[in-house]
Amino acid sequence: MRHGYLIDMDGVLCRGREMIPGADSFIAALREAGIPFLLLTNNSQRSRRDIATRLQRIGIPVDEEHIFTSAMATARFLARMKPNGTAYVIGEGGLTTALHLNGFAIVDHAPDFVVIGEGRTVTFEQLEQAVQFVAQGARLIATNLDPNCPTESGLRPGCGAIVAMIETATGRKAFSVGKPSPVMLRAARKELDLRSEETCIIGDTMETDIWGGFQLGYHTILVLSGSTQLADLAQYAFRPEKVVASVEELVAPLRQYPQRPLWLAPSGEETSLSRAPNTRPTVSAAVQGGRP
Ligand SMILES: [Mg+2]
Repeated sequence: MRHGYLIDMDGVLCRGREMIPGADSFIAALREAGIPFLLLTNNSQRSRRDIATRLQRIGIPVDEEHIFTSAMATARFLARMKPNGTAYVIGEGGLTTALHLNGFAIVDHAPDFVVIGEGRTVTFEQLEQAVQFVAQGARLIATNLDPNCPTESGLRPGCGAIVAMIETATGRKAFSVGKPSPVMLRAARKELDLRSEETCIIGDTMETDIWGGFQLGYHTILVLSGSTQLADLAQYAFRPEKVVASVEELVAPLRQYPQRPLWLAPSGEETSLSRAPNTRPTVSAAVQGGRP
Protein backbone atom coordinates (compact mmCIF):
# COMPACT_ATOMS: atom_id res chain seq x y z
CA MET A 1 0.00 0.00 0.00
CA ARG A 2 1.22 3.45 -0.92
CA HIS A 3 1.92 5.39 2.29
CA GLY A 4 4.28 7.81 4.04
CA TYR A 5 5.16 9.48 7.30
CA LEU A 6 5.18 12.91 8.92
CA ILE A 7 7.76 12.58 11.68
CA ASP A 8 8.18 15.00 14.56
CA MET A 9 11.82 15.73 15.40
CA ASP A 10 12.26 16.78 19.02
CA GLY A 11 11.60 13.86 21.37
CA VAL A 12 11.33 11.46 18.42
CA LEU A 13 14.65 11.65 16.55
CA CYS A 14 16.65 13.90 18.85
CA ARG A 15 16.77 15.53 22.24
CA GLY A 16 18.58 18.86 21.99
CA ARG A 17 21.87 17.98 20.31
CA GLU A 18 21.62 14.28 21.03
CA MET A 19 20.30 11.61 18.71
CA ILE A 20 17.71 9.27 20.21
CA PRO A 21 19.09 5.73 19.70
CA GLY A 22 17.71 4.08 16.57
CA ALA A 23 16.75 7.34 14.83
CA ASP A 24 19.58 6.94 12.31
CA SER A 25 18.63 3.36 11.37
CA PHE A 26 14.95 4.27 11.22
CA ILE A 27 15.54 7.08 8.72
CA ALA A 28 18.02 4.95 6.76
CA ALA A 29 15.47 2.11 6.55
CA LEU A 30 12.75 4.48 5.28
CA ARG A 31 15.10 5.78 2.60
CA GLU A 32 16.23 2.30 1.55
CA ALA A 33 12.58 1.25 1.21
CA GLY A 34 11.78 4.41 -0.79
CA ILE A 35 8.98 5.38 1.64
CA PRO A 36 8.20 9.12 1.47
CA PHE A 37 8.57 11.09 4.69
CA LEU A 38 8.98 14.60 6.05
CA LEU A 39 10.44 15.68 9.37
CA LEU A 40 8.21 18.28 10.99
CA THR A 41 9.13 20.93 13.49
CA ASN A 42 7.12 23.73 15.04
CA ASN A 43 10.34 25.60 15.72
CA SER A 44 10.61 28.42 13.20
CA GLN A 45 14.08 29.58 14.21
CA ARG A 46 16.15 27.73 11.63
CA SER A 47 15.95 27.21 7.88
CA ARG A 48 15.49 23.73 6.46
CA ARG A 49 19.13 23.65 5.38
CA ASP A 50 20.34 24.55 8.91
CA ILE A 51 18.16 21.83 10.40
CA ALA A 52 19.28 19.19 7.88
CA THR A 53 22.91 20.03 8.68
CA ARG A 54 22.34 19.79 12.44
CA LEU A 55 20.67 16.39 12.03
CA GLN A 56 23.43 15.12 9.73
CA ARG A 57 26.02 16.12 12.32
CA ILE A 58 24.41 13.97 15.00
CA GLY A 59 24.25 11.06 12.55
CA ILE A 60 20.73 11.23 11.07
CA PRO A 61 20.92 10.82 7.27
CA VAL A 62 18.51 13.47 5.93
CA ASP A 63 18.57 16.14 3.22
CA GLU A 64 17.08 19.61 3.10
CA GLU A 65 14.07 18.28 1.15
CA HIS A 66 13.06 16.11 4.10
CA ILE A 67 12.51 19.07 6.45
CA PHE A 68 9.22 20.92 6.86
CA THR A 69 9.05 23.74 9.42
CA SER A 70 6.26 25.91 10.81
CA ALA A 71 8.13 28.86 9.28
CA MET A 72 7.70 27.35 5.79
CA ALA A 73 4.05 26.53 6.48
CA THR A 74 3.41 30.06 7.77
CA ALA A 75 5.10 31.76 4.81
CA ARG A 76 3.25 29.63 2.24
CA PHE A 77 -0.05 30.20 4.03
CA LEU A 78 0.42 33.98 4.16
CA ALA A 79 1.48 34.09 0.50
CA ARG A 80 -1.84 32.43 -0.37
CA MET A 81 -3.85 34.78 1.84
CA LYS A 82 -2.15 37.91 0.54
CA PRO A 83 0.32 37.58 -2.36
CA ASN A 84 3.25 40.03 -2.03
CA GLY A 85 2.10 41.08 1.42
CA THR A 86 4.08 42.68 4.20
CA ALA A 87 4.97 41.48 7.67
CA TYR A 88 6.48 42.77 10.87
CA VAL A 89 8.41 39.81 12.26
CA ILE A 90 9.58 38.79 15.69
CA GLY A 91 11.68 35.74 14.97
CA GLU A 92 14.90 34.55 13.43
CA GLY A 93 16.45 33.56 10.11
CA GLY A 94 14.29 30.52 9.47
CA LEU A 95 11.17 32.65 9.47
CA THR A 96 12.46 35.71 7.61
CA THR A 97 14.05 33.50 4.92
CA ALA A 98 10.81 31.58 4.40
CA LEU A 99 8.80 34.81 4.12
CA HIS A 100 11.23 36.28 1.58
CA LEU A 101 11.18 33.07 -0.48
CA ASN A 102 7.38 33.38 -0.63
CA GLY A 103 7.33 36.93 -1.91
CA PHE A 104 6.79 38.76 1.38
CA ALA A 105 8.50 42.01 2.36
CA ILE A 106 9.54 42.49 5.97
CA VAL A 107 8.69 45.98 7.15
CA ASP A 108 8.58 48.03 10.32
CA HIS A 109 5.76 50.32 9.24
CA ALA A 110 2.07 49.54 8.53
CA PRO A 111 2.41 45.74 8.04
CA ASP A 112 -0.43 43.48 6.83
CA PHE A 113 0.58 40.87 9.38
CA VAL A 114 2.50 40.66 12.63
CA VAL A 115 4.24 37.27 12.56
CA ILE A 116 5.68 35.69 15.69
CA GLY A 117 8.24 32.88 15.74
CA GLU A 118 10.73 31.67 18.30
CA GLY A 119 13.61 33.92 19.05
CA ARG A 120 16.23 34.27 21.69
CA THR A 121 16.82 37.96 21.06
CA VAL A 122 13.30 39.34 21.42
CA THR A 123 13.22 42.75 23.11
CA PHE A 124 10.51 44.71 24.88
CA GLU A 125 10.70 47.37 22.15
CA GLN A 126 9.82 44.73 19.53
CA LEU A 127 6.88 43.54 21.62
CA GLU A 128 5.64 47.10 22.04
CA GLN A 129 5.88 47.67 18.28
CA ALA A 130 4.01 44.41 17.60
CA VAL A 131 1.25 45.39 20.04
CA GLN A 132 0.83 48.75 18.32
CA PHE A 133 0.60 47.24 14.83
CA VAL A 134 -1.97 44.68 15.98
CA ALA A 135 -3.98 47.40 17.73
CA GLN A 136 -3.89 49.36 14.44
CA GLY A 137 -5.34 46.40 12.54
CA ALA A 138 -2.47 44.13 11.45
CA ARG A 139 -3.44 40.46 11.77
CA LEU A 140 -1.59 38.50 14.43
CA ILE A 141 -0.06 35.25 13.17
CA ALA A 142 1.79 32.70 15.32
CA THR A 143 4.10 30.14 13.74
CA ASN A 144 3.08 27.92 16.66
CA LEU A 145 1.65 28.08 20.17
CA ASP A 146 4.05 25.74 21.95
CA PRO A 147 4.31 27.15 25.50
CA ASN A 148 7.99 26.26 25.92
CA CYS A 149 10.94 24.57 24.26
CA PRO A 150 13.04 21.89 25.95
CA THR A 151 16.73 22.76 26.21
CA GLU A 152 19.71 20.83 27.57
CA SER A 153 19.40 22.77 30.83
CA GLY A 154 15.60 22.70 31.18
CA LEU A 155 13.08 24.93 29.43
CA ARG A 156 12.89 28.27 27.71
CA PRO A 157 9.74 30.25 26.87
CA GLY A 158 8.32 29.13 23.54
CA CYS A 159 6.55 31.04 20.79
CA GLY A 160 3.19 30.55 22.54
CA ALA A 161 4.46 32.44 25.58
CA ILE A 162 5.51 35.45 23.48
CA VAL A 163 2.22 35.37 21.57
CA ALA A 164 0.24 35.27 24.85
CA MET A 165 1.82 38.56 25.88
CA ILE A 166 0.68 40.29 22.67
CA GLU A 167 -2.77 38.70 22.88
CA THR A 168 -3.21 39.90 26.44
CA ALA A 169 -2.07 43.40 25.58
CA THR A 170 -4.31 43.76 22.50
CA GLY A 171 -7.29 41.56 23.33
CA ARG A 172 -6.85 39.88 19.89
CA LYS A 173 -6.34 36.17 19.34
CA ALA A 174 -3.49 34.96 17.16
CA PHE A 175 -4.03 32.58 14.24
CA SER A 176 -1.54 29.72 14.62
CA VAL A 177 -0.16 27.74 11.67
CA GLY A 178 2.08 25.11 13.34
CA LYS A 179 1.04 21.70 14.67
CA PRO A 180 -1.71 20.82 15.59
CA SER A 181 -3.13 23.34 13.06
CA PRO A 182 -4.47 21.62 9.95
CA VAL A 183 -2.74 24.33 7.89
CA MET A 184 0.72 22.85 8.53
CA LEU A 185 -0.30 19.21 8.65
CA ARG A 186 -2.25 19.37 5.40
CA ALA A 187 0.54 21.27 3.63
CA ALA A 188 3.03 18.60 4.71
CA ARG A 189 0.78 15.78 3.47
CA LYS A 190 0.33 17.51 0.12
CA GLU A 191 4.07 17.97 -0.19
CA LEU A 192 4.34 14.16 -0.04
CA ASP A 193 1.45 13.82 -2.51
CA LEU A 194 -0.40 11.42 -0.20
CA ARG A 195 -4.05 11.08 0.77
CA SER A 196 -5.11 11.33 4.42
CA GLU A 197 -5.56 7.59 4.85
CA GLU A 198 -2.08 6.99 3.39
CA THR A 199 -0.46 9.38 5.89
CA CYS A 200 0.84 8.56 9.36
CA ILE A 201 2.17 11.02 11.91
CA ILE A 202 4.81 9.84 14.37
CA GLY A 203 5.27 12.10 17.41
CA ASP A 204 5.89 12.34 21.14
CA THR A 205 3.27 14.97 22.09
CA MET A 206 -0.42 14.19 22.43
CA GLU A 207 -1.65 17.80 22.09
CA THR A 208 0.22 18.60 18.88
CA ASP A 209 1.31 15.52 16.92
CA ILE A 210 -1.34 12.99 17.87
CA TRP A 211 -4.27 15.40 18.16
CA GLY A 212 -3.30 17.11 14.89
CA GLY A 213 -3.09 13.80 13.06
CA PHE A 214 -6.27 12.51 14.66
CA GLN A 215 -8.30 15.55 13.53
CA LEU A 216 -7.23 15.11 9.91
CA GLY A 217 -7.86 11.37 9.77
CA TYR A 218 -4.17 10.42 9.58
CA HIS A 219 -2.80 7.30 11.23
CA THR A 220 -0.97 8.05 14.47
CA ILE A 221 1.99 6.49 16.26
CA LEU A 222 3.06 7.83 19.66
CA VAL A 223 6.66 7.35 20.78
CA LEU A 224 7.49 7.41 24.49
CA SER A 225 11.01 8.78 23.97
CA GLY A 226 9.91 12.40 24.50
CA SER A 227 7.36 14.37 26.48
CA THR A 228 4.70 11.69 27.04
CA GLN A 229 4.71 8.68 29.33
CA LEU A 230 2.41 5.70 29.09
CA ALA A 231 0.57 6.67 32.29
CA ASP A 232 -0.30 10.10 30.78
CA LEU A 233 -2.57 8.51 28.15
CA ALA A 234 -5.34 8.02 30.70
CA GLN A 235 -5.91 11.81 30.74
CA TYR A 236 -6.91 12.00 27.08
CA ALA A 237 -10.22 11.32 25.40
CA PHE A 238 -8.44 10.36 22.17
CA ARG A 239 -5.66 7.83 21.80
CA PRO A 240 -2.93 7.09 19.29
CA GLU A 241 -3.37 4.11 17.01
CA LYS A 242 -0.08 2.60 18.13
CA VAL A 243 2.39 3.27 20.93
CA VAL A 244 6.08 2.34 20.81
CA ALA A 245 8.95 3.00 23.19
CA SER A 246 10.90 4.80 20.45
CA VAL A 247 11.47 4.71 16.68
CA GLU A 248 14.07 2.01 17.33
CA GLU A 249 11.14 -0.35 17.80
CA LEU A 250 9.97 0.40 14.25
CA VAL A 251 13.25 -0.50 12.54
CA ALA A 252 12.87 -4.31 12.55
CA PRO A 253 9.27 -4.37 11.21
CA LEU A 254 10.28 -1.85 8.54
CA ARG A 255 13.31 -3.89 7.47
CA GLN A 256 11.33 -7.12 7.46
CA TYR A 257 8.30 -5.85 5.47
CA PRO A 258 9.40 -2.56 3.90
CA GLN A 259 6.13 -1.92 2.08
CA ARG A 260 3.79 -2.68 4.98
CA PRO A 261 2.56 0.43 6.82
CA LEU A 262 4.01 0.54 10.33
CA TRP A 263 0.63 1.15 11.93
CA LEU A 264 -0.38 -2.32 10.70
CA ALA A 265 2.64 -4.08 12.23
CA PRO A 266 1.43 -6.46 14.95
CA SER A 267 2.33 -5.32 18.47
CA GLY A 268 5.47 -6.75 19.89
CA GLU A 269 6.70 -8.17 16.58
CA GLU A 270 10.49 -8.47 16.67
CA THR A 271 10.81 -5.46 18.93
CA SER A 272 13.40 -4.61 21.49
CA LEU A 273 10.71 -4.66 24.17
CA SER A 274 9.44 -8.14 23.33
CA ARG A 275 12.94 -9.58 22.92
CA ALA A 276 14.18 -8.24 26.22
CA PRO A 277 14.40 -10.84 28.99
CA ASN A 278 12.20 -10.29 32.05
CA THR A 279 10.17 -7.97 29.94
CA ARG A 280 7.13 -6.08 31.08
CA PRO A 281 4.11 -6.48 28.81
CA THR A 282 4.84 -4.75 25.50
CA VAL A 283 3.83 -1.13 25.43
CA SER A 284 1.12 -1.76 22.88
CA ALA A 285 -0.41 -4.58 24.91
CA ALA A 286 -0.38 -2.44 28.03
CA VAL A 287 -2.15 0.35 26.18
CA GLN A 288 -4.79 -1.99 24.84
CA GLY A 289 -5.35 -3.23 28.40
CA GLY A 290 -5.98 0.37 29.30
CA ARG A 291 -3.77 0.22 32.34
CA PRO A 292 -0.02 0.67 32.31
MG1 LIG B 1 8.20 16.56 19.80
